Amino acid sequence: MKELVNAIRMQGVGVGDDIVKVDMFLNHRLDTELVVQMGKAFAEAFADEKPDLVLTVEASGIASALTTAMALGNIPVVFAKKSQTRNVTGDVYQSNVFSFTHGVENHVRVSKAYLPQGSRVLIIDDFLANGAAASGLCDIVAQAKGTVVGVGVCVEKKFQPGRAKLEGMGMRVVSLATVVGIDNGKLIVED
Ligand code: 5GP
Repeated sequence: MKELVNAIRMQGVGVGDDIVKVDMFLNHRLDTELVVQMGKAFAEAFADEKPDLVLTVEASGIASALTTAMALGNIPVVFAKKSQTRNVTGDVYQSNVFSFTHGVENHVRVSKAYLPQGSRVLIIDDFLANGAAASGLCDIVAQAKGTVVGVGVCVEKKFQPGRAKLEGMGMRVVSLATVVGIDNGKLIVED
């Protein structure tokens, strides 16, 4: 998506050799127009799959999951929670996800009440790195005997194996921008 590619080129920063920092428009400050456009792009890519709901992980996947769900006709968004809180009680689906950015293992969980059995689920997230978050969400959908109709990510890091992992599981993966490398803090983004 041209607008996202331009935003990454103009406002993104590479940290070390594998972290893409896009706090200016996606991970701290939100460029609402861009996030709405991303939602429309995901909706266009996956509308034929007729998802019942959009599933993401808190917190940074929520914005694009929301605009996608709105563009798909205001279907629900469910976001997996990362911490055990007293708000998440009773029966939950749970999976373990190693967080690439925080270097810790999170238990991500979704209340069974919000993920009806047999749902057609579109997974949306901000980044695809090693595929841990998305495959944890796939695991949760499988526990609910649902179907993942696809995985949409705003930014794919091509130098990490997330796509190969998800495609190896039979998933269709759509990314809106692809970072192929980091050179001295500068992000190299595919056209
Ligand atoms: P994965 O689970 O595919 O290894 O990593 C994806 C998750 O980690 C996303 O939910 C995202 O929040 C975070 N993440 C991975 N790589 C990056 C990155 O380079 N920049 C940012 N901002 N988040 C990342």
